[in-house]
Amino acid sequence: MAIDKTYPEIRDAVAKLCAQYPGEYWRDLDQKKAYPTAFVQALTDAGYLSVLIPTEYGGSGLPLGAACAVLEEVQRSGGNGGACHAQMYTMGTLLRHGSGQQKRQYLPGIADGSLRLQAFGVTEPTSGTDTSRIRTNAVRDGDDYVVNGQKVFISRTEHSDLMILLVRTTPREQCTRHTDGMSVLLVDIRAALGNGLSISPIDTMMNHASTELFFDNLRVPATNLIGAEGDGFKCIIDGMNAERILIAAECIGDARWFTEKSASYARERVVFDRPIGENQGVQFPIARAHIQTEAAALMVQQAADLYDAGEPAGAEANMSKLLASEAAWAAADTCIQTHGGYGFTAEYDVERKFRETRLYQVAPISTNLILSFVATQELDLPRSF
Ligand SMILES: Cc1cc2nc3c(=O)[nH]c(=O)nc-3n(C[C@H](O)[C@H](O)[C@H](O)COP(=O)(O)OP(=O)(O)OC[C@H]3O[C@@H](n4cnc5c(N)ncnc54)[C@H](O)[C@@H]3O)c2cc1C
Repeated sequence: MAIDKTYPEIRDAVAKLCAQYPGEYWRDLDQKKAYPTAFVQALTDAGYLSVLIPTEYGGSGLPLGAACAVLEEVQRSGGNGGACHAQMYTMGTLLRHGSGQQKRQYLPGIADGSLRLQAFGVTEPTSGTDTSRIRTNAVRDGDDYVVNGQKVFISRTEHSDLMILLVRTTPREQCTRHTDGMSVLLVDIRAALGNGLSISPIDTMMNHASTELFFDNLRVPATNLIGAEGDGFKCIIDGMNAERILIAAECIGDARWFTEKSASYARERVVFDRPIGENQGVQFPIARAHIQTEAAALMVQQAADLYDAGEPAGAEANMSKLLASEAAWAAADTCIQTHGGYGFTAEYDVERKFRETRLYQVAPISTNLILSFVATQELDLPRSF
């Protein structure tokens, strides 16, 4: 029987699980800036965070499309997959480039939830989007790498046991291509804390458990190098394409949540003796946001299909992330407008979701950088940097 690539059973089951974590749950966490431990545990116990892990290591061995279905439903329910989505997209780096020994050592624990792989350390204060200029470096010393440097905006490190960390192992000036000379280390955060790694939380607009990391002679066993030394950028690119497609799926979930919320409020709210939704000035922006969302959803599906088929998916991953994040933002803005003053009150959850979905036009890659990628790589326009 052909697989339904929209994964209706998964969507249905995830929606039921999410119904146990309603708006009040997320609102309370948002106000306390607390981590959704109970929700993440429930998602883990039900096996949804290990859908991408092959069955031989205890996961479900499903394609990226299934992971997209999980995360889209989390967002569509009004929740926030940002608390745990990294496990899905960092998996590509470990699955495609990890050694047999690394997979045997870590994947079963990640699959059963005893090990959390939720942290992905790339961004640095001075390099910004220009990843090739990262300064955090690792120098081989006997059986270890010694890591020094700093990362910023690294989410969930306080709620993760493992981190995929990008470091420089050869100075940029000594490399033929500026993306050469970087390497990926799998860092055991539990062993590293207080032994060369310190973590400092960053207060952000939304509840995202973001942190700043400081590395001071942190020793990481050389056996934790993922892929070949110097090939780190190539190794994380797989993870980055998966990340963009998964985030795009989350944005589709957000957009659908906003539009359902807008339409239902516009049907119910009566002003001037009629539902506000009778006014075309109210209904047209909702209809437009819906159209934008469904168009973006098709591109997300195409990107996931290409990725799952092992075809090049860089362009589609980037384009779907741009379209979906903009559709979510249009739907969010419309939702606030439709709710009038109530859109700004915490109890409707609209303002919380509005803040949460804004992130995705900046992270994990900003809209400008996607436009630049498409202009230069797809349309062969001259590079500006
Ligand atoms: C809540 C949150 C969570 C995050 N989680 C993680 C994480 O877990 N791991 C991780 O590694 N990172 C994480 N990030 C970092 C995120 O990926 C970066 O913030 C993002 O990639 C942008 O980098 P930057 O902030 O340094 O912006 P900059 O690179 O300084 O760019 C600033 C602005 O200038 C624009 N710009 C820069 N150069 C150009 C150019 N050449 N042409 C046109 N426009 C340009 C950008 O588009 C952007 O709008 C997170 C960020 C946030 C806010």
